[in-house]
This record gives sequence, structure tokens and C-alpha cells, in this order.
Amino acid sequence: MKYLLNNYGKRFQLNFQSGKNSTLLEKSGKKFIDFASGIGVVSVGHGNQEIAEVIADQSKKILHVSNLYNIEPQEKLAEKISKLAGFELFAFFANSGAEANEAAIKLARKFGAGKRYKIYSLLNSFHGRTLGSLSATGQKKLQEKFLPMVDGFEFFKSVQDIENQIVTSSENDLPVAVILELVQGEGGIQALPKKDVQNLAKTLKSKNILLIIDEVQTGIYRTGEFLTSQIYEIEPDIITLAKGLGGGIPIGAMVTKLKDGFEAGDHGSTFGGNYLSTSVALKVLEILENEYSNGKLALKIEYF
Ligand SMILES: *Cc1c(COP(=O)(O)O)cnc(C)c1O
Repeated sequence: MKYLLNNYGKRFQLNFQSGKNSTLLEKSGKKFIDFASGIGVVSVGHGNQEIAEVIADQSKKILHVSNLYNIEPQEKLAEKISKLAGFELFAFFANSGAEANEAAIKLARKFGAGKRYKIYSLLNSFHGRTLGSLSATGQKKLQEKFLPMVDGFEFFKSVQDIENQIVTSSENDLPVAVILELVQGEGGIQALPKKDVQNLAKTLKSKNILLIIDEVQTGIYRTGEFLTSQIYEIEPDIITLAKGLGGGIPIGAMVTKLKDGFEAGDHGSTFGGNYLSTSVALKVLEILENEYSNGKLALKIEYF
């Protein structure tokens, strides 16, 4: 640990060497059940042979070209995400949840066209550690050593409070977007009230304010459906994904209804959407869609 920074504090003194599905094997020979799943990442289990094959095959052919060229699995993945969501979405691929949220914040800023730029968020939310996504995160303790935050984020206790603020604001004061996790992850597995979210979604639509749903943790069948937005029966303007999408290979996605939200040169990523990550993510979605169709993912979560 001598040459590592201390940002993760003292780590558990465990050295996992391999895994199969939800079981991890530690150096000592002891087996563990992996309830952490790499913080919601290992969506198709450890040691998944289908994933291993895709990684091996893809790596023998081509891993990376830049986004200056067509990348077939990237196009297929974008289409697959839209199909599974059940409405038309256009994708930008990044490498992490924070980066997906950065893209969402930039898209919202662009949508505001310099006239509106505020983004409303919830207290106890978590949207990432980069300066933009941290600024959207409603936790003072994560922000205070790194001030000043990016301008324009305001925090509310509840969805209802956001709604009240918006319906009582003058036209000039309106935000350009609202960002929410439908189930706050880091905030302690707090599901937002479904009716309040649906009402807010209607209000936002009527006032031309974007709804950004951060599904970095709740997406990819984490709550039983492909998106938790489907359980809430909303069609957000922007959805961000990451964690479970790559099953362990880093990938993030910002998908949006705004087909022309970005113009050439507005945003980009060197690694985002490359052959490796998108071919693996396609396989992850194929595996999970199958399990879902076979009724294996049918959680009956009543607390929404
Ligand atoms: C984990 C998480 C992020 C950040 O994702 P990274 O890949 O760590 O950048 C953002 N939003 C939510 C809701 C998360 O759970």
C-alpha cells in the first residue's frame, strides 16, 4: 500500500483471487458470498464465461479506434438501450457514472442556451466525484474540502419541495433541469415516492425543464426492470447509466430524447464507447434480457 494514495482509507485485508457467479475465493481458500457485487457492478456474476469469450474474441480482433470512425458495437448498444427502455433514446458513451453525469450536466447547460442554467437536486443524493457531478451531489461532507463547487446547483429535501419551488418561481428563476436518483443509493436505499415523481415529471414537461434520472446504480435491471424509470412509469429527458452496464468493464452512458442536444465538437471522450466496453455491454444486456424474459429477475418491490 506504500505507493497508493490514502483516499480509500484502510482497506479490508482480503485478496480475492477468483470468483464464480456470486461466490468469491480469497487467497486463504476461504469462500465469500459477494453481496457488494463491486458496488452494483458485477451484474452477470464473477467468472462469467460468455463475458470472458467476448473479451477474448474482441481483444484478438480490435480493442480501440477513436470516435472518428464507426464503431459497430457502439451503435448496436445504443439501439439496444433504446429498445429496452421502450422509447427513443440517443446515446453518448463514457467510462464511468460521473462522466455520464458530466455529459448530462453539459447537455442541460446547452439546452438552457445561457438563459437558464440552474439544476435542482436532492439532499443526500450521490452523482459522482468529478467536480461537476460532485457539485450535483447533495452531501456537504463530500464537497467541503473542494470548494468552490460548480455554480448553479440547488438542493431540496424532497421531490415535493422541488415541485413547490418550481410552481411558485417566476419564469426568470426556473432551473434548466432537475436531477434525481429514483432510489437513492449512497443516501441509504431511499426510494422516492412514485406519485410525487410522476407529478414532478408532468410539471417539468409543462415548463420545458429537463428531467435527468441518474440510473447509474438503479439501472440495468437492478430493481427488477431494465430501468427503474419503467417502474415509475416516466420517460425522462436524460438517463445516465454505468455500474452494471459493463459487468466489470468500465463504461458509462448518457442517453437522451434530445437527438440534437449536442452538435459536433460539443463533447467527447477518448475511450468512451470503444470496441471492448461496448461489445461486453451488449453481451451483458443480452444475458440479462434473457434472464428477465425467463422471469428470473422478477422482483416484486412494493415500496415504490
Ligand atoms: C456510483 C454512482 C455514481 C458515480 O459512478 P462512478 O462510475 O463511480 O463515477 C453516480 N451516480 C450514482 C447514483 C451512483 O451510484
